[in-house]
Amino acid sequence: MQSLAKLSGGDTPDKSQFPLRDEDDPRVVYMLSDRATRISLKVKPKRREVHVIVPGLRSLAKARAFANEQRDWIDVQLEHLPEPMPFVPGGEILFQGDRYRLVNPPGKGRGRVDRAQRKIVVPSPDIDSFPGRVRRLLIREARAELEAATHHYAGELGKRVGKVSVRDQASRWGSAITRAGEGHISYSWRLICAPPDILEYVCAHECAHLVEANHSAAFWAVCERLFPETKMAKRWLRKHGQTLHAVGAG
Ligand SMILES: [Zn+2]
Repeated sequence: MQSLAKLSGGDTPDKSQFPLRDEDDPRVVYMLSDRATRISLKVKPKRREVHVIVPGLRSLAKARAFANEQRDWIDVQLEHLPEPMPFVPGGEILFQGDRYRLVNPPGKGRGRVDRAQRKIVVPSPDIDSFPGRVRRLLIREARAELEAATHHYAGELGKRVGKVSVRDQASRWGSAITRAGEGHISYSWRLICAPPDILEYVCAHECAHLVEANHSAAFWAVCERLFPETKMAKRWLRKHGQTLHAVGAG
């Protein structure tokens, strides 16, 4: 990433210089988009940044002016983000809706979750590999829960599930497609940080898509049949979704 400072003096930036970080406000990053038709702002909770979508090189000056005008709005958005919960020894993160302390004992071995003491115990030979190990442990735990819930709900609908993927998708909690009569579902690992019934809801939601590949009234009827507390769970995700993105941030 380059700074706009290099572009002063009448230089025209080329495409390779994007994403461009604003030299006055490092929280602001300009993203060039061929598809965009207008200048817009996007809050990136995980990175604690605001992206300015620039529809073509010629709009850069206008986009800078727009970002400047919106400074107050940007401040409010970023200041209201939940506190980051970085993967550091001694730090606390959310796990299944509760606060767990991260512990880094000496030695080797597999990481584990100590539910009785609300600890996530992750040995690592050096501190640099600690965050990656915590993340992999969370993905492993997420996968077990997500697979179990997915097979449960798919079974209730009489649908076959092929692959269940667990990844770090920033914009969606889950997605589902049906290919050759089999459902393929992918989820965000961050669901393991939410209370267990929220994870259950997302699995019910994605399985309901194996019946209705849309968000029609018929879809919501299937979803509520599988998971009667659907409305509560949707509200929870709207309200607390950004908190899940704060896990591992910072
Ligand atoms: Zn959906």
